[in-house]
Amino acid sequence: MTTHALLLLPGDGIGVETIAEVERVIAFFNARSNTARFEIDRDLVGGAAYDAHGVAITDAAMAKAERAGAVIFGSVGGPKWAGVPYQHRPEAGLLRLRKDLGLFANLRPAICYPALADASSLKRELVEGLDLMIVRELTGGVYFGEPKEIVTLENGEKRAVDTQIYSTHEIERIAKVAFDLARKRGGKVHSAEKHNVMRTGVLWKEVVTAVHAAYAPDVQLEHILADNCAMQLIRNPKQFDVIVTDNLFGDVLSDEAAMMTGSLGMLPSASLGSVDPETGRRKALYEPVHGSAPDIAGKGLANPIATIASFGMALRYSFDMGAEADLVDQAIARVLDKGLRTSDIMQDGMTKVGTSGMGQAIETELKALAA
Ligand code: NAD
Repeated sequence: MTTHALLLLPGDGIGVETIAEVERVIAFFNARSNTARFEIDRDLVGGAAYDAHGVAITDAAMAKAERAGAVIFGSVGGPKWAGVPYQHRPEAGLLRLRKDLGLFANLRPAICYPALADASSLKRELVEGLDLMIVRELTGGVYFGEPKEIVTLENGEKRAVDTQIYSTHEIERIAKVAFDLARKRGGKVHSAEKHNVMRTGVLWKEVVTAVHAAYAPDVQLEHILADNCAMQLIRNPKQFDVIVTDNLFGDVLSDEAAMMTGSLGMLPSASLGSVDPETGRRKALYEPVHGSAPDIAGKGLANPIATIASFGMALRYSFDMGAEADLVDQAIARVLDKGLRTSDIMQDGMTKVGTSGMGQAIETELKALAA
């Protein structure tokens, strides 16, 4: 029996409610399998950690995250903590996790379940069955490059500077993540940059081309200018399988792709670090894209699908349990096909359920699929 260690960090607001539904799914897999089981640890993060310990995440919780096979994160933040010192604001907990675990690759799938195609901002035929993955570089580029400053010039005018920096190794490792993913999916990678106007784009293209030749000649590679990529995502999103891009373009393109799937409550994500040479596994954190939704927190209204699908990504990418991940995806699709909807994705003629109603329905479908 293999034991996988999971650290659950529900955080604040609806994170607490959606992680409770993930626990239901974990319990299902623990009851079913005699080859693998999940050992759960829990801790505080965000405002909840600040209230208990005066920091957004404790060293002890960080140590648990370092040891865990995967961290499943809910959400942090809320008006209650608007006045806490900047370094202890709830988001600082998530930023520390990303930094200390070295999570350089952000995976944002855009999947459009057929049952929700009409909720997309694009026409049904463009998005129905859409399944693409944006791989965004998360720890480099213009958000971190120095100098980063606003200076006052001699004439009294101000000048702001952000610096876009990428080194070979940063591009190599993110390209490898994209190629590895494409191998498990549709076998195609689009690399998006702006080599026509940016030196970092020139290097990005050069390095991705070299990694492709040496590491993944079996995968189809296409280079695309980031602005054209934005356009093509709206024109014909189903042409894409995996898109790999830098931090800034990835930030924009992944939000653009997200709009095709209907609701924030449907969007999972993963952040991956380097492969540990001793254990062969990557540090990894899985979280819904949405925040703590203070407007609906504590009311049992939150859609738990984004968080459950994030756990599904953990099954696939941290534990190599692809069949189980497929089961989670199928259970979600079936529940939607049957017309169950939380309020964020509610449509005429459908049946409204709350957070635990949706979690229970997914559990029921998992049991039916596994029977
Ligand atoms: P949000 O994602 O929390 O909510 C935006 C809107 O979408 C709200 O109306 C909310 O009710 C709705 N929504 C979000 N998730 C939903 C779900 N699962 N089911 C149903 N409806 C859902 O973003 P916000 O309102 O800008 O931010 C609220 C707080 O969350 C802030 O403190 C912000 O800093 C924080 N935040 C945290 C994270 C994170 O933890 N990773 C991400 C974004 C925002």
